[in-house]
Amino acid sequence: MDYKEIYKKAYAYMNEKVIEEDCGLLCNSHCCRNFTEDGEEIGIYLMPHEYESVYKDTPLERRFRFEKHTSKHYYIPPKVKYLYYFHCDKNDGCIRDLRPIQCRTYPFEPHLEGNKLSLVVEREQIHQCPLLNKMDELRKEFVEGIYHGWKLMMEIPGVKDLIQYDSDIRKRNQNISYIVSNFE
Ligand code: SF4
Ligand code: SF4
Repeated sequence: MDYKEIYKKAYAYMNEKVIEEDCGLLCNSHCCRNFTEDGEEIGIYLMPHEYESVYKDTPLERRFRFEKHTSKHYYIPPKVKYLYYFHCDKNDGCIRDLRPIQCRTYPFEPHLEGNKLSLVVEREQIHQCPLLNKMDELRKEFVEGIYHGWKLMMEIPGVKDLIQYDSDIRKRNQNISYIVSNFE
């Protein structure tokens, strides 16, 4: 299985504008901030094999900080074993064409129940995203692109396990405020 090719196609699917204007102008790109309001440094988890498929052995590997988090020390499913945690600096400019999956999918998360994939917005949020109050304004092309990107990525070992793990926790905690499931 060619993971590089899958990520290339998933990035293309997940490259649609969220709304007609640049949503970052609504909130000074709140979801890209490097520190929380409490001063805690935050980054983004890459998906399984995303680091190796997109960033490894490229100039971006030296430009950004990638930390390897293992399931021994972090809430990562044992089947997945490890994930890379990525730190960018929005003041240094966004690597728009190669931004990670997590930057593309937000505010949606992939959700699996009974093997059916849907997109959800979580009730508990660490970002103050203005879009959460106007989900009906999200572009149809954006929503469909996110769905098709996740559907494709589920072919990569570990991605489906990670989605299932997060979905089970989300369901248990009733942490869903919005759901889109009418695909296919
Ligand atoms: S927080 Fe929401 S509105 Fe702001 S940049 Fe992120 S996705 Fe766009
Ligand atoms: S890569 Fe770009 S979109 Fe993603 S967090 Fe950094 S600045 Fe924001």
